[in-house]
Amino acid sequence: MLFDLIIIGAGPAGLTAGIYARTRKLNTLIIDATVPGGQLASLYPEKAIENYPGLVQTEAGALSGNLVNHAKSMGCELREHERALGIENAGDHLRVRTEKGTHETKAVILAIGMGLFKPRKLGAKGETEFEGKGVYYKMPEKETLLGKDVIFVGGGNSALEMALLACDNSGACVVHRRDLFRADEAIVERVHSSNIETMMTSEVVEIRGKDRVESVVIKQGDKLIERKADAVVVNIGTANEPEDMTRWGVEAEGGLIKVDTDMCTSRKGVFACGDAVAYRGKYKQIVVACGEAAIASNSAYKFIKEPYWAETHK
Ligand SMILES: Cc1cc2nc3c(=O)[nH]c(=O)nc-3n(C[C@H](O)[C@H](O)[C@H](O)COP(=O)(O)OP(=O)(O)OC[C@H]3O[C@@H](n4cnc5c(N)ncnc54)[C@H](O)[C@@H]3O)c2cc1C
Repeated sequence: MLFDLIIIGAGPAGLTAGIYARTRKLNTLIIDATVPGGQLASLYPEKAIENYPGLVQTEAGALSGNLVNHAKSMGCELREHERALGIENAGDHLRVRTEKGTHETKAVILAIGMGLFKPRKLGAKGETEFEGKGVYYKMPEKETLLGKDVIFVGGGNSALEMALLACDNSGACVVHRRDLFRADEAIVERVHSSNIETMMTSEVVEIRGKDRVESVVIKQGDKLIERKADAVVVNIGTANEPEDMTRWGVEAEGGLIKVDTDMCTSRKGVFACGDAVAYRGKYKQIVVACGEAAIASNSAYKFIKEPYWAETHK
C-alpha cells in the first residue's frame, strides 16, 4: 500500500501533524517506536501542564491521551512498538524501513523528538552500577518514591518539575552544580516555597550502596558530604548522537535536524518538526512542537498534491 504521508514519532508533534494531514484527507500512517504520546506519556504522565493554551491546567498523560484520540478520530492509522530504521528512495516514492517491515509513501515527516538522544550521564562513581537500581534518568512512578529520600540532579525545568512531583510523598533534594537554577521563575518559586531541599554549587560525585542505592557523596566546594539516598533522578540534558541522524539522510547540526521556515529538511519529500529540529530561537515546548507540526503537514501537503495556489517543494 502506498501512503500519502508517513509520520515517524507519535509525540505532540507527530500527532498534530497527523491531525492536520487528515484535514487535507492525506492517507496518513503514524509510527512510534514505543507507545504514542511522546515524552508526556513516557517521561512525565502525572505532571501538571500549565502552559498549553486553552487548558488552565491538565495532566501530561491526559493531554497526550487527548492528542492520540484526536489523531485516531481524524482517521490516522497508528502503529506502536514499531521503530523506524531508515528512509530509502524507491523510484518516485520513499520507503520507510522499520523493525517490522517496509512502508511506501510519498512524503515523510520526522517527529522523533528525543528519540535520537540518550540522557546525559553524571559521570559519578557507581552511576552505571546502580542504573535501574535506584539511579534513574526519567521519573520513576510516584508510588515507588513514597517515603523515600530522593536526590534530583539538575537545574532546568525537567529536574525541578520532577522534584516537585515527588515532594509530596518523599524527601526530595535538588543538587545543582551552579549557584542559580535555569528553570522558569515560576517553577523555581514553587520549589523554594515547597519542602524541597536545594544544594547549589554542588555535584554528586559518587553513588554508594550494596544491591541498590543507599547514599550519595556530594562535593560542595572543598567539602565531601555523604547523605542517605534511596534514589537518584538525573536530569542534566541529553547527549546528542549525531551519527544516528545519518539513517534519515538529512542534514543535521549538533545532533538535531536542520529545517527551514517551511519545516523542510535537506532531503526532498522529508519534513521535520518538534524537539528533533534545530533553528535559531528554537524553544522545546509542546505548543511549539504542535505549531511546527502544522507547518510541516502543510508543506508535505503542498509537496504531495502540488495545489495551484502553492509554490512547489519538489
Ligand atoms: C520533565 C519534562 C517536563 C516538561 N514539561 C513541559 C511543560 O510543562 N510544557 C511544555 O510545553 N513542554 C514541556 N516539556 C517539553 C515537551 O515534553 C517536549 O517539547 C515535547 O514532548 C516535544 O514533542 P515531540 O513530539 O517533538 O517529541 P516527543 O514527545 O519526544 O515524541 C517523539 C516520539 O517519537 C518516537 N520515536 C523516536 N524515534 C523513533 C523512531 N526511530 N521510530 C519510531 N518512533 C520514534 C518516540 O518514541 C516518541 O514517542 C517537558 C519535558 C520534560 C522532559
